[in-house]
Amino acid sequence: MKLADSPVTVHQFDEFPFYLKRDDQLHAQFSGNKARKFMPLLDQALPNIQTLICYGSAQANSLYSLAALANLRGWQLEFYVDHVPGWLKQNPNGNYRAALALGAQIIETRTLSDLPPKQYIDQYRHPDSHCLMLEEGGRSPIAKQGVTALANELINWIARQPDQPWRVALPSGTGTTALYLHQTLAPHGIEVVTCPCVGDQDYLLEQFDQLIGQTQPVAHNQTPAERYPTIISPSSKHHFGRLYAEDYRIWRQLRAQTEVEFDLLYDPLMWRLLRHWLPTQPDKSLLYIHQGGLLGNESMLARYQRQFGHSLA
Ligand SMILES: *Cc1c(COP(=O)(O)O)cnc(C)c1O
Repeated sequence: MKLADSPVTVHQFDEFPFYLKRDDQLHAQFSGNKARKFMPLLDQALPNIQTLICYGSAQANSLYSLAALANLRGWQLEFYVDHVPGWLKQNPNGNYRAALALGAQIIETRTLSDLPPKQYIDQYRHPDSHCLMLEEGGRSPIAKQGVTALANELINWIARQPDQPWRVALPSGTGTTALYLHQTLAPHGIEVVTCPCVGDQDYLLEQFDQLIGQTQPVAHNQTPAERYPTIISPSSKHHFGRLYAEDYRIWRQLRAQTEVEFDLLYDPLMWRLLRHWLPTQPDKSLLYIHQGGLLGNESMLARYQRQFGHSLA
């Protein structure tokens, strides 16, 4: 199965023209950021594997992507969550509903023990040789192959454009995607800019260092500017998954001006920061990565509408 060569479309947001890499259109069921990261698991033989094990939030994009992967491969997905919120159980939607429909087993650890999901798996599940255990959100060297493939698609696309300086932008969760993109794009003189959506800038730098330690010997002569993507951060703490009127507003503005639906968890913060940061920077052409996550918008939108109604028109 081919998972590559998502299209690039052209848009303008406020005064900023930009190109958009449509990884939301990578594949009908298995698309976006998590598909890039888990891509090797689609291609490799892995004859002994029967069960995929992961953990995270009941609304996570990785829950749905792994359910789609397990379904395509004929594996069972066991996904451990601390708990499923009552409103989601009563009215299943988004990633949660779609994962259940694909046969995912979603296990609430809170009702079983005091341990958080990851520890619960280690302590009680004991994954054996028929199981493949993955880290939350695909924070793993497994992701390098697929993200490098994305980077190479960007390099090839840029090579076909008139000669000009480029900047690639994407929001970060674990930072895995931004770091691996940076490692492939920096040698080509392409800047990668990102923002921390989970935790703050220090958390993101820690994630970068962990990944760097896992995948290559640390090059001590590298300056921070060479080692890491450019990070832009909000001046006050932004809590992952919390509802912000500002986020909802810019998400709607983006949709109105570009006719593209962006994701509601990560993209609004990145665009809010870019809007202020870009005018302070040397002019470069902007290539933004659409990392999917649209199924997750269903549950985010329901929450936004419940909280703000139509008061933000
Ligand atoms: C997982 C995800 C991210 C974050 O990717 P990281 O590699 O963890 O930084 C961003 N956007 C979407 C839509 C995602 O699903």
